[in-house]
Amino acid sequence: MKKGVDEVEKEKIEYLIQSLAARNIEGYFMDTFEEAKSKIMEMIPIDARVGMGNSITLKNMKISKELNDRGNIVCDKTLAKSKEESKELKRKSLLSDWYITGTNAVSLEGHLVNMDHSGNRVAAMLYGPNHVIIIIGINKITMTLDEAVHRVRNIASPQNARRAGFNPPCVELEKCIDCKSAERVCNNLVIIEGQSDRGRMKVFIVNENDGF
Ligand code: SF4
Repeated sequence: MKKGVDEVEKEKIEYLIQSLAARNIEGYFMDTFEEAKSKIMEMIPIDARVGMGNSITLKNMKISKELNDRGNIVCDKTLAKSKEESKELKRKSLLSDWYITGTNAVSLEGHLVNMDHSGNRVAAMLYGPNHVIIIIGINKITMTLDEAVHRVRNIASPQNARRAGFNPPCVELEKCIDCKSAERVCNNLVIIEGQSDRGRMKVFIVNENDGF
């Protein structure tokens, strides 16, 4: 554990890693996003096809570029030049060898809570890619599942809507009213509670704050 993480935080992260393990999900604690990126580059074979979820954290880490530069085929819809290409990259991601993404909240009991607009990200997390790496800053950890869902609806979704250029009511209200707006970004609330394949899913918990 990083020096400076106080005992309470250290115990919380150890508890979370145990919770994930009990759900067949591997949890790793890392000091920085740079360290997480090095680990990813080391783990993923150079001939693997890699799908990327749309995540502010991944954008900041510039993982797509580094994978691409060294020869991996990368399916990252944020690099698409047209709507059609974006759609095709999302479809190809579903059958990539590896999938890298963030998640919107993680409870201490190990629930991974996600809200998606079109659903391509959660689809790849659930099935398709043989390996899934989920990267989170410690700001995404909540005490309970209820708090995780609350975080997703009231913190992550409004900020993601704003980032994507949508204008549902929460952008102004800064809270969710379960709108029926045409600009609604919340179409798929998915809680991952475990994995049937041990070793398929890994969660990198980074001792920094990033993303919504
Ligand atoms: S349901 Fe509507 S109001 Fe609630 S977070 Fe989603 S877009 Fe915003």
